[in-house]
Amino acid sequence: MKNIRNIIPFCLLAFLPVGLRAQGLPTDGPLTLRPMLQQLGERLLQGKTGSIVAINPQNGEILCLATNTPHGADVRQAIGKPQAPGSTFKTAQALTLLSEGIVTVDTKVECNKGFIDGNIRVGCHQHRSPLALKDAIAQSCNSWFLVTFASMINDDFMYGSKDEAITTWRSYMQSMGLGGPMHIDMEGEQGGLLAGADYLNRRYKDGWDGKTIWWAGMGQGDVTLTPLQLCNLAVSIANRGWYYVPHIHKDTKNPRYLTRRQTKVAREAYSIVVDAMRMAVDQGTATSIKTSYPICGKTGTIENPGEDHSAFIGFAPMAEPKIAVSVYVEHGGFGADLAAPMAGLLIEAYLKGQLTPASEARAKRIAAKKIK
Ligand SMILES: [Zn+2]
Repeated sequence: MKNIRNIIPFCLLAFLPVGLRAQGLPTDGPLTLRPMLQQLGERLLQGKTGSIVAINPQNGEILCLATNTPHGADVRQAIGKPQAPGSTFKTAQALTLLSEGIVTVDTKVECNKGFIDGNIRVGCHQHRSPLALKDAIAQSCNSWFLVTFASMINDDFMYGSKDEAITTWRSYMQSMGLGGPMHIDMEGEQGGLLAGADYLNRRYKDGWDGKTIWWAGMGQGDVTLTPLQLCNLAVSIANRGWYYVPHIHKDTKNPRYLTRRQTKVAREAYSIVVDAMRMAVDQGTATSIKTSYPICGKTGTIENPGEDHSAFIGFAPMAEPKIAVSVYVEHGGFGADLAAPMAGLLIEAYLKGQLTPASEARAKRIAAKKIK
């Protein structure tokens, strides 16, 4: 039995190049992809449009780069199609706001299924109010993140101008690898959008302030990222402040992929956000993962024409992370509906080497779900 289990991965590897070419993945291996994860990712994405990206946080190796579209697998879905990150982005927001001293772990914001500001109604879920930061992440409170982001951008006393405030904000996001191409070792990568002063001054010719762009506080509006960048965000949080540029070629000698990148985020901010991401899986919006592993994560439900997109970022184990994952399923509904349980299965498969019978049954149910 042991011998057979050792032989299977090599059999799968032999078949991989054909599949890789069809998906737009490199064929000049050896690659860092784990066949078991790649196949599980492809299976879970059947009948759906989206991507599953997994990275080893300890070395930046891409473990899974599974994609699907109505026309078959297409790697651009993961690396070349920036989309709104939704509430997964609240992790990066919290890290930035904490580092700048705009909020503390005790900062509370009122929310009664959202709030009304002039003609604008911001929706939120039913949860107790007011929430402090960790609960605001675990329960994904929109009010908390819109109000605190706007207060940073409108803090003229601290920054002197809106331009300077947004430039500071952007510098944190860029230090986390967001908003621009990461220059991975593959063709077809796109950057995305992170609102900057020049862009905002062009776009809002009559002027703008924190409230004009506060939707970015919850990952909508003037911010788009690729699933690859979202997975790298999970990597940098897993490592509490650093990452290697993701890469798919094994044993690379290119210094670009062997140099640790440090984020601008204050180290103490990470322990707060990591705790909050653990709470999200344990008792917040991501309990649908249903796992005994100490997974830290954040759901995202992205508003767009038609059914919402379902997203999730996470990593595990909490103390010494071995895998970081992002899942993005177009029109998949709530982040908790599809993306979170899909990520949970991938993490379990990687950490245990196989799925339990209960998890395998769950994988079959998810794989059978078709989304038009
Ligand atoms: Zn709320």
